[in-house]
Amino acid sequence: MFDEIDAHAREAYPEECCGLLIATGEKKVVDCVRMKNEYPGPKQDRYHIDPLELYRTDRAASQRGLVVAGIYHSHPDYPATLSRFDLDHAFPWYSYLVVSVGRGGTNDRKSWTPNEKRTRAAEEPIEVVEG
Ligand SMILES: [Zn+2]
Repeated sequence: MFDEIDAHAREAYPEECCGLLIATGEKKVVDCVRMKNEYPGPKQDRYHIDPLELYRTDRAASQRGLVVAGIYHSHPDYPATLSRFDLDHAFPWYSYLVVSVGRGGTNDRKSWTPNEKRTRAAEEPIEVVEG
């Protein structure tokens, strides 16, 4: 899964890429779906996902007994932290996976869960399961 997300981040560089994380109810990510970065301005440090696309993907996931558990996006030449802008636009029920990407490829990735008021986000451990 990370290979797919890393590839997306490298392809989009120097712009941000974004996508959805499809998971089981236990938050085990089993699939990722690329989304188009619909942000109308410069895409180097912003991304926007079309709500209709999100809704469609969510519906398709639930037909497979799965859920959209989170959103991933890349930070070109910037650390894998959740920015103020990210937090302001976050949904508290999703996990936010941020991938730091530079000219030479991806560097780091961190997952964040915003609190209810979107004032801060806690880092969430990422466990890689084989198979
Ligand atoms: Zn961001």
